This record gives sequence, structure tokens and C-alpha cells, in this order.
Amino acid sequence: MKIRAAVLPATGSPLEVLEVDLADPKEREVLVRLDWSGVCHSDQNAIDGTSETPCPAILGHEGAGVIEAVGPGSRLQIGQRVALSWAPSCNECEECTRGLRHLCGAAWPAMGKGGLMDGTSRLSHDGETIFHNSFLSTFAEACVVPDASCVLIRDDDPLDIASIVGCAVTTGVGAVWNTGQVRPGDRVAIFGCGGVGLSAIMGARAAGAECVIAVDLSQEKLDDAIDCGATHAVQWQGDAESTADAVRALVGTGVDCAVEATGRPEVATACYLSTRVRGAAVLIGIPRADAIVSFPALALPRMERRILGSIYGSSYPPEMFPQLLELHRQGRLPLEKLISHRLPLDRVNEAFELMHQGASRRVMLDVRS
Ligand SMILES: [Zn+2]
Ligand SMILES: [Zn+2]
Repeated sequence: MKIRAAVLPATGSPLEVLEVDLADPKEREVLVRLDWSGVCHSDQNAIDGTSETPCPAILGHEGAGVIEAVGPGSRLQIGQRVALSWAPSCNECEECTRGLRHLCGAAWPAMGKGGLMDGTSRLSHDGETIFHNSFLSTFAEACVVPDASCVLIRDDDPLDIASIVGCAVTTGVGAVWNTGQVRPGDRVAIFGCGGVGLSAIMGARAAGAECVIAVDLSQEKLDDAIDCGATHAVQWQGDAESTADAVRALVGTGVDCAVEATGRPEVATACYLSTRVRGAAVLIGIPRADAIVSFPALALPRMERRILGSIYGSSYPPEMFPQLLELHRQGRLPLEKLISHRLPLDRVNEAFELMHQGASRRVMLDVRS
């Protein structure tokens, strides 16, 4: 079938909206008709080369929609509503069998090659292969994805909210709940108040954190953070030590959990320096491949400080997405506050300009238009 999609022709190029060919779903794949796609900082990383990406590619990995066709062997049915996960799991490899399904040893290498789980693409233009991105490629009217990327959602779950649950929300909230293990009464600091950081702030509040300190360069982003539930705001002080001092000055000895959501090494250092005894610095921002983080080593044993990496909120999407959507329905996770702009697919490049200008909340692309 023909679909309209935003194609990245090559690293560093603007996106082009084209009519491309989408092949039928193969073994254990489904075709999903989409309404909305979130625009994530990881898409920007693919465009500017921070993350190496096979091109031409259709980016986008925050989507939700309705199943329109199923391939052989799929457990799903036409008409079911699903939110999409970019971490399908094979359930057979070493990582899957020890419960680390978001780190599936089969899915990660396949994702890097730009195909679906079997390594091949369902996308093309004038006979030339177009690569998938993160198994999803949601900057399009429809996509063919692995069956294992689909998480069933309820009829009353809004598709725009379900879309952002698929990346930013799960990444941010999961970092606090699953990786950081934040408990009621804990002190938390979130460094970087984009869509993921704001989600982490909401997750910390929902977990009962006593104080949630937002840290960012931009006053506008700090205002957004307060609106999303942060109890305190600290502006970046120019270096890791001064910023950590400003955070600790608010809570005495430091925080139980500090989340790094920018990918910058100096911010990771500031997170580490902000933690109290037995505190955890949780690193979720995607750094450049050659980035090195440094920190004073003595306090690691002396204070039992911990440094934890977290991808996709250390979550299993089939369990995590429904939990997040349920808390949203109950009003305990005000996820609608994460959406600030809605643009038609044709204006996809404007979405990235908004990101450059520092719009911290999510830009949603209407892929139906
Ligand atoms: Zn993302
Ligand atoms: Zn696996």
C-alpha cells in the first residue's frame, strides 16, 4: 500500500514528506494505522548523527493506533487498539530468559540495522529500500511492526497519550520507579526538563517523593517542571560542583535519586554529586558515543553512592504501559500536560525547530492529515 511518511534521506538532511510503499506484514508482524506520533529527542539524535542511523529512514517511535492487517502467526486481531513499544523481545535469548526483556539480545542488533526482527524492511520508495527506525517508523500514516511491539490498550485510552507512553513517559517514569526504586518520602532531583525529564518528575510525585527538584539551564523549562509537579527549581550554575551544591543546599545532605536526562557528561557528574549516602545517580540521557563521565571516586565506597544506567525505564512495556495509562485515568499522572504543540505531518521540520528553540514539552505530529 501507499502511505505518506516523513523520510530522512541522509544524516544531517531535513526530512521530506513523500508517498512511500509499505509492504504487507510478514510472519508475526502487524500493520497499524496511526493517528499521532510524538517527536522525541532520539529522533533529533538520528538526524544530526549523534546516534548512527541507516538512511534513508522513516523516523518516529512514539505511536499508537488500530491494527489493520495481521501477518501469519500473529497473536493479534484486526481492529485491536495498541500502543507501540520500540523494545520488542524474543523471549528466548540470554537477556530475555533472565528477565531483562527490554535489553533483548536479538532485538538490539536488529534495530541497529534498520530492519524489523528478521533484518529486512517493509518500506521502499521507487524500488529503493527505506530503513525502519526503532522497529516502528511512526512519522507515517501507518506502519508494519513486530507483533511483540504491540501493547493492547483500552478503548477509552486516548491515542495521543498512548503514543507518548510509548517512549518519553515509560523512559522517565520507569527510571524513577524501576531503576531508581524511589519510595514515599524520598528526595529526588531531575536534571533536564524535556519530555522525559518532565515524565520523571510526574513519576516521582506519583511515587510519593517528598521533594522533587528540577534542574535545567532554561527558566522556561523550570516553569514547565513546576507546572508538572516539581517542588523546587534550580538553574544550572555553570558547572557540576556549583549546581550539585545548589541542589544539596535545598535538602541538606543530598537526594536519594538524581536522574540525568540530557546526555551531557558534566550533568551526569552533577547528578552523582547531588546524591546523599546510598543515593543513586540514574543516567538515562543518550550521550555521544565517545563521551566519558568523571566523578570523584572516594565517595563511591565511602558514601555507598551508586551510578545506575537505565534504558526504557528498565521496563517491560506490556506491564508498564497499562499501569501508566491507569494512573493517567485516575488523574495521578497528568500526562496531557506533556503535550504542547500539534502539527500536521507536512510541518515535521518545524517540530525539530521547536525542539532547538527549547520547547520542552512534546510536539505531536498529526499523521492523518
Ligand atoms: Zn524516544
Ligand atoms: Zn531476547
